[in-house]
Amino acid sequence: MIAFLKLLFRNRLAGLGAVVLAAIVILVLITPILPLPDPDVTATADRFKRPFTDGHLLGTDHLGRDLLSRLLWGTRLSLAIGIAAALIAATIGSAIGIVAGYFGGRIDNIIMRGVDMLMAFPYILLALAIVAALGPGLMNALIAVAAVNVPFFARNIRGVTVTLAGREFIDAARLAGLGHTRIILTEILPNVLPVIVIAMSTTVGWMILETAGLSFLGLGSQPPRADLGSMLGEARAALITAPHTSVVPGVMIFLIVMSINLLGDGVRDALDPRLRSGALTRPRAMTMVDREAPLPPARDDTGLLDIQNLSTEFRVGPRVYKAVSDVSLSVQPGECVGIIGESGSGKSVTALSVMGLVASPPGVIAGGAVRFQGEDLVRASYATLRQRRGDRVAYIFQDPLATLHPLYRIGDQLAEAIRAHHPIGRAEGRRRAVELLTAVRIPNAAARVDAYPHQLSGGMRQRVGIAMALANDPDVIIADEPTTALDVTVQAQILALLDDLRRDRGLAIIFITHDFGVVAQLCDRVAVMYGGRIVEQGPTADVLARPRHPYTARLMACVPELGGGRRKLDAIPGLPPAVDRLPPGCAFAPRCDRAQDVCRNGAIDLVVEGDRALRCHFPCNDTAAAGAAT
Ligand code: ADP
Ligand code: MG
Repeated sequence: MIAFLKLLFRNRLAGLGAVVLAAIVILVLITPILPLPDPDVTATADRFKRPFTDGHLLGTDHLGRDLLSRLLWGTRLSLAIGIAAALIAATIGSAIGIVAGYFGGRIDNIIMRGVDMLMAFPYILLALAIVAALGPGLMNALIAVAAVNVPFFARNIRGVTVTLAGREFIDAARLAGLGHTRIILTEILPNVLPVIVIAMSTTVGWMILETAGLSFLGLGSQPPRADLGSMLGEARAALITAPHTSVVPGVMIFLIVMSINLLGDGVRDALDPRLRSGALTRPRAMTMVDREAPLPPARDDTGLLDIQNLSTEFRVGPRVYKAVSDVSLSVQPGECVGIIGESGSGKSVTALSVMGLVASPPGVIAGGAVRFQGEDLVRASYATLRQRRGDRVAYIFQDPLATLHPLYRIGDQLAEAIRAHHPIGRAEGRRRAVELLTAVRIPNAAARVDAYPHQLSGGMRQRVGIAMALANDPDVIIADEPTTALDVTVQAQILALLDDLRRDRGLAIIFITHDFGVVAQLCDRVAVMYGGRIVEQGPTADVLARPRHPYTARLMACVPELGGGRRKLDAIPGLPPAVDRLPPGCAFAPRCDRAQDVCRNGAIDLVVEGDRALRCHFPCNDTAAAGAAT
């Protein structure tokens, strides 16, 4: 609740609305105990007194009644009627909407056609017709205003309910044997309540206006009782001679409606989770770059793709999350380089930084270079990046459902991936799609090309993701845990497929995983990441046989071996570091049993020795490592 208010008041205008509205509400609540003259007592001798005359702060009206008193009592009445109408309309409308949306089918059809009929009448005419039928009076005006707003709520809430009713947790509740009433009250209602509140907060002002409108026409509150609309109506005759009688209720209506609307907008923004996260801005098309340090000079033995001293951070308010610091990595054509590390070690951010895909804000590339065929991609224009993305450098992501559009056939999506870079016709696109699906060994590709993503199994979807990455015959594929969600047989097939591709087509692969088995099977070289830094790098067989960084050794000790007999699996004690509070020295030191003071205090450089690189003062000596590995 406190958080909600904080959020609300961050929006200045909504805060202003809340303050004005609160002041008005307090004023009308204490009206009965204020020393005010009776609002209905006429005194013809005192007609049309100007404001600020003795005893009448706001003057008097055409019957000599005190305007301040009438204003406060009138506002009290108008607010009460408006809010009551909104509550009634929201309750009835939402109930209709929920029932229609939840049961669907014929019930939905009958209810919604009735609602449509109500909506087909012009709004104010309908209200007038209802009051005309029931007879003038405040109660009837309330009924009329509530009735014409019911369809609005019914439509809105039905739409929300329909999507909810198809969701898995509703099915689960039904299978668990809950009755319809229970499901509606405990599963649906809590989910639509924010929508109801939002719809209400944005319509209360409107309903107060409508009630005032009916009273203005003489159909609402009856004399001598004052509400804002009838005060305006009675003042109309004296608009020129005594304008204050119109201005006083007019200003009050303006203040109420404005403050409710501002507050309503604020409430809507504060309740919407997407707006609540502060992400009002959409991410840019490429990651922001803020390189302070001078660019490292290009190395001459650069591979096809060369990541050099890359640092990427997330700047969220005053915090800076250094997700990737000083990472250097290169890959040659036909080579597969693995990146391994615990969850949160910065693997994905490294991969996304290559093509400027880290969401910005809050992501910023703070240093280093990414060279593709010698060209610095960090400095490249958006047009250049767009040309390379998916064409020369392609990604395979962990969750294939997030890559595929649920409403398009996979063949069309594959063809679109090609067409984004090369103009090809429909028939050609289809032919290529079938070819690609065959290449990733989807059985019966010619028929599957017309399937929708939901008609495929998880493994097949992942293979479609791979086919999409292959669509333009790229030079580099960056695979971010593409097999983590798959079972071992499918995983083995996909690894074999990638392995073939790099041998046949000379594809360079950066393969991100947290599975040593996968690394051993596929990768020529491996880089171990911890706390956003590479701590060890080298040829796979060498690193696996002789891990030198204590972290690598401990990671490997966590891997069970088939047929290796019973062995105690060593989990690494402690947790990975929070990247916004990285220690000055080695990030692994707090969890490392070899760490000494020097590890905790100063920065440690990555020392390159032949084809191995290591960031550690006290590496595991080889005999101990050999002992740990067996
Ligand atoms: P992984 O190695 O599991 O792929 P990531 O590269 O996704 O890890 O994340 C690295 C670090 O960056 C994590 O500590 C994560 O909390 C942080 N991070 C990722 N995205 C954001 C973000 N939008 N805002 C703040 N921190 C983030
Ligand atoms: Mg990841």
